[in-house]
Amino acid sequence: MPFCPQCKAEYQQDITICSDCQIELMPELPPEDTVEYVDWEIVESVPSEVVGNMIKGVLESENIDVVLHSHDLVALGGIREDWSKPEWGDLLVHGDDFEDAKAIIEEYLASLPKNQIENEDADIETV
Ligand SMILES: [Zn+2]
Repeated sequence: MPFCPQCKAEYQQDITICSDCQIELMPELPPEDTVEYVDWEIVESVPSEVVGNMIKGVLESENIDVVLHSHDLVALGGIREDWSKPEWGDLLVHGDDFEDAKAIIEEYLASLPKNQIENEDADIETV
């Protein structure tokens, strides 16, 4: 079934343009990978893979499931959602773990020597 990439509405086989968005329909729904992360929330944006893995390790040691999602990873939907973001990627956790994860990350970042983060040449503040 063709569907609209913008509003996700499905259309009959012979329709090629979304009547709401006036854009061309895609031939099929996006791959499963994009659906898999629906229930996950971005808890922190990270400037590099190194920082992402450090924080991931800290959260995992607290028994929180965490996914490191690079903006450049083609496997995760193939679309870089926000090109204006300078960060390397995002850390995602389940909605249920969000508050805990946020608190743990803040505590962890506060415990780091300040220049260690600045040397990563990025702003680690959450927007
Ligand atoms: Zn549409």
